[in-house]
Amino acid sequence: MAGFPIEDGFSASRLFNQGFSYTYDDVIFLPHYIDFPTDSVNLTTKLTKNIELSIPCISSPMDTVTESSMAVSMAALGGIGIIHYNNLASEQAALIRSAKSRQIPYISDPIFKTPSDSIDSVSDFESSPCVFVTESGNSKSKLLGIVEKSDWEILSEKNTPISCYMLGLPVSAPSNYTFEQAAAFLDTRKLDYVPLVSDQDEVVDLVTMKDVERIRGFPKLGFPTLGIDGEFMVGAAMGTREEDKERLEHLVKAGANVVVLDSSQGNSIYQIEMIKYVKRNYPELDVVGGNVVTAYQAQNLIQAGVDGLRVGMGSGSICTTQEVCAVGRGQATAVYKVSTIADHSGVPVIADGGIANSGHIVKALVLGASTVMMGSFLAGSSEAPGVYEYQGNRRVKKYRGMGSLEAMTKGSDARYLGDKSKLKVAQGVVGAVPDKGSILKFIPYTMHAVKQGFQDLGASSLQSAHDLLRSDVLRLEVRTGAAQAEGGVHDLVSYKKKPF
Ligand code: 5GP
Repeated sequence: MAGFPIEDGFSASRLFNQGFSYTYDDVIFLPHYIDFPTDSVNLTTKLTKNIELSIPCISSPMDTVTESSMAVSMAALGGIGIIHYNNLASEQAALIRSAKSRQIPYISDPIFKTPSDSIDSVSDFESSPCVFVTESGNSKSKLLGIVEKSDWEILSEKNTPISCYMLGLPVSAPSNYTFEQAAAFLDTRKLDYVPLVSDQDEVVDLVTMKDVERIRGFPKLGFPTLGIDGEFMVGAAMGTREEDKERLEHLVKAGANVVVLDSSQGNSIYQIEMIKYVKRNYPELDVVGGNVVTAYQAQNLIQAGVDGLRVGMGSGSICTTQEVCAVGRGQATAVYKVSTIADHSGVPVIADGGIANSGHIVKALVLGASTVMMGSFLAGSSEAPGVYEYQGNRRVKKYRGMGSLEAMTKGSDARYLGDKSKLKVAQGVVGAVPDKGSILKFIPYTMHAVKQGFQDLGASSLQSAHDLLRSDVLRLEVRTGAAQAEGGVHDLVSYKKKPF
C-alpha cells in the first residue's frame, strides 16, 4: 500500500462547505495516532490576544451563572469568570472587587447589617451561617457582633433591632491565614465557620467547614489565572449603549481584566463604535466582541480592533433566538467558520453555548476555538448564584436565559433588544438544572476527559489540534440519526450514568 494516500473521512474544509449547519452532536472525529500519554496534553490557551489561561473554560455572563463566587473559583482553576451586568454598574463593580480581593476560592458570602437594622427574612442566612454586625452595615467597618440563624429563628418579634439580641464578637482568625491554617483552625476548635479579620477588626472573608471540604476535594489543575498585580483575573460584561460608557469606568476602576461586549448579534454599528471607544480610552484593557457566527460578521469586529471573538447564536440551552428570529447557525459550523477567519488575525475564539458534555468541549476546541463559554454546564454548581430547591426528589438550581422575560424585566434587555424597543419579546426561557456539586471538582475531571479526546486525535495541545485541522489531517464525518443513537448508551433496560 506504500505510496497510496489513504482517503478516509472528510477534512473540515470539505465538510463545512456543503451548505449544512452542523452542531456538535452532528459531527464525529475519526481517531488518529497516539504517541504521548494523556497527562502530557497541554490545554493552556488564550482568552484574548493578551490573556492566557491554563484551562480553556469561561463562565458565562448570566445572572444565574457568574457572580463573585463563580469568578473566584474559575480563576482558581485556571479559567476565568465573566461577571454579568443585569445590575447597577456599582453592584457589578462590587462583585468584581469582591472576587479580586480573594486569594482562596471560598464561596460564603458574608451578610452585614448595622445594630439598628432588623433581619426580615431567613434568606439573609442562605449564603452565610451568620449575619455580621458592623457600625456601617458593610465590611468596611469594625465588627461588633454576630447573629446566628438559630438565635434569629427563636425570636417572636422579628423586627426587633439586632442590637437587642446580637451575640458579641465571635472567634476569629487573622485575615492573612492561608487555606491550610484556616482549615486547621476550624479542625482544632471544632468550629463550623470562622471569619478572617484584619488588624482593623474588619471582616475580610468567611471560611466554613463546607468550604474546606469543597477545596480539599479539588484535584490540582494548572496555574490559577492571576494578573500582574497577583490578584485573580476577572472579566465583566457590558452593553453598547451610551450609558455603558459610564459602566465601563466603574468596571475599570474595580479592576476588570477584560470586558465582553454582550450582544446576540454583534455585527452592529453600536458594537463597532464601542470597540473603538474602549480601545481608544483604555488601550490596556482587552475587549471581546460578539456574538458572531459568520466570517463576515467576524471580519468587521476584527477590523474594529477586538482582542477576542465570542461565537454562537441560538446555540444556548435556554435560548429561543432561532425559533423567534429565524437567524443563527449550527454551533459546530459557526465555530469552524469564524475560527478560520479569526486565525489569520491571531484573534482567539470563544465557543459560546451548547456545551453539555466534555465531548462538546473537545469538538469546539478542535474545530478552532481557543476556549468554551458555558452557562448550563456550570449553573447547577455550588458556585453559581442562587439557592438549591427541590423539584420532586431532585435538587436543582434556577437557570434562566438573559433574554427571558424574567431577566429582561430586571434589565438585561440591552443584549437582545439592541435598540431601545418598548416591546419585549423573549429570546430565552427560565428553567432549572440539577445540582452538580462544586466546579472545583467536576471541572478537573472534565478537563481530564478533554485531554483523553485530544490524545485519541493525536493532538498534544490546542495549537497541535488546530494544526491538524488546518492541514486537513483531522478527519471527521457527519453522524446519521442512527449513528448518534449508537454513539450514546443504548439497548439497556436501565442504567446509571456516573461520569467520574
Ligand atoms: P449554554 O451554555 O447554557 O448552552 O448557553 C449559554 C449561552 O447562551 C450564554 O453564554 C449566552 O451566549 C447565551 N444566552 C444566554 N441567555 C440567553 C437567552 O435568553 N437567549 C439567547 N438567545 N441566548 C442566551
